[in-house]
Amino acid sequence: MIMDCTQYVGKCSCGRTHELETKKVVVEYGALNNFEQYMADVGLKDKRRAVVYDSFVYHLIGERHLKADQEIVLESKGLRAEDVLIEDMMTKLDRPEVIVAFGAGTIMDFGRYPAYKLGIPFVAVPTLASSDGFTASICSAIINGQKKSTRMCAPALVVADLDIIQGAPMRLVSSGINDILAKYISLADWKIAAMVAGEDYCPMVAGLADEALQIMRAAADKMAATGEVDHEAMTMAQMKSGLTMQLWDNSRAASGAEHLMAHLVEMHPPRFESAEGIHGECVGVGTYAAIREYKRIGKLTPRAKAFEPLTSGWVMEKFGERLYDGIMKENEHDVLGTFDPQNIVDHWDEIRAIIDEIPSSEEMAALYEACGCKYLPEHVGIDPALSDEMLPISAAIRNRLTLVRMERVLEF
Ligand SMILES: [Zn+2]
Ligand SMILES: [Zn+2]
Repeated sequence: MIMDCTQYVGKCSCGRTHELETKKVVVEYGALNNFEQYMADVGLKDKRRAVVYDSFVYHLIGERHLKADQEIVLESKGLRAEDVLIEDMMTKLDRPEVIVAFGAGTIMDFGRYPAYKLGIPFVAVPTLASSDGFTASICSAIINGQKKSTRMCAPALVVADLDIIQGAPMRLVSSGINDILAKYISLADWKIAAMVAGEDYCPMVAGLADEALQIMRAAADKMAATGEVDHEAMTMAQMKSGLTMQLWDNSRAASGAEHLMAHLVEMHPPRFESAEGIHGECVGVGTYAAIREYKRIGKLTPRAKAFEPLTSGWVMEKFGERLYDGIMKENEHDVLGTFDPQNIVDHWDEIRAIIDEIPSSEEMAALYEACGCKYLPEHVGIDPALSDEMLPISAAIRNRLTLVRMERVLEF
């Protein structure tokens, strides 16, 4: 399947003009056979080209190396995306006009970061599809010693060859399913925030995220029923979800209360020291927990409660000294204090209708089981005794309006 991205670009009914750096996304078996044609389609064929691999992928793909003016093969053992390592690689670059990153997420940052710094385009050739980051503009490299998401640039072209992607380990397939099924929560959170707090919302961008969700849900159902993995559908779902982050200039459509669980696991606050999992797995735990919580409060009727900022005592207790300053700063201008909590109560019937559209926790648990997805806290090294606390704690990590965060101004 080839996606021409221009269909999403331009003036939109939401009032914004949407832009995409990504011109074309190719998700096909044997896609690399036509790589030069795709490069020509986006005007990059004759540009001086550096292609970056890690040594594992370089050997794995055998004869399928791309034509290059310069090849860079990084030792895969211990390779991590970190600014000092990327800048060291940049000193070896021989005046490229385009960088092609061939590999998994780590290698993407070795393409994205230099391309951004040099002001040249980059092209992504993903070898797996375990998350929706490939078509996004977010760099996840460690910068100044801190792992965080930094907005940089998105690939001008993505060429996903399913002959390679289908060889990815099943754990990564399952993780990829989780990252997209998360949209049940992220889309509900966005809709509710727009309704009660007047947050900007775009039906087209939300629609694209929902399309990714429906494609992935159908593929997961098929996998659950037959064991068959539809790599084309699953990869396309990742690509579409990633595009929403470019179109909206942030991850609103793709990341809600559930994604904060992945941040929680990465941050290792007190009592979460042994938490460990790849992105989609942690997101799956967040999604399932949020579904259970939303279904629970959907049955109740809330009263509004006055907004109170997070107390320094609570933040210190939950996050400890190491993370305290960052969490306090993030919550300095708490989005909860920007609207009347009564709005939530006044819209409760509509909120309940949104919650009703989310599949039940029983349905999701069965689907997760059948697809080998992680979804319980103990699957990612979190003590099940922290089940009730992990959502409110993770909600403090990012000042984004989610239904979990809204519970601070509600009484049931
Ligand atoms: Zn729009
Ligand atoms: Zn994600």
